[in-house]
Amino acid sequence: MPSERKPSPNEDEFFAKRDADLMKAQRARLDAARDAEERHSHYMKCPKCGGLLRATVFHHVKIDRCPDCNGVWLDAGEMEQLEKVREGKVDGFVKSLFGLAR
Ligand SMILES: [Zn+2]
Repeated sequence: MPSERKPSPNEDEFFAKRDADLMKAQRARLDAARDAEERHSHYMKCPKCGGLLRATVFHHVKIDRCPDCNGVWLDAGEMEQLEKVREGKVDGFVKSLFGLAR
């Protein structure tokens, strides 16, 4: 005859473990929510001065520029796109990026 197994030989131990697991899961959900809120609060904010970044297109490459400190931020792959800008245009492109030429 198969023996019916209790969740734990000690009932208090079973409930303590269950409560600990529930608290761990709740803590993980709260940490994830806090992380998401923190990330959202930084979205499109300049990491240097906190200004609101504006998406701007230069030579068909979308870049994010801070209107407050003129910082420029590139997303993944944008640096590689910039490398493809014709060599003759690079100097003018970099100057236009920083508002030095127009
Ligand atoms: Zn800035």
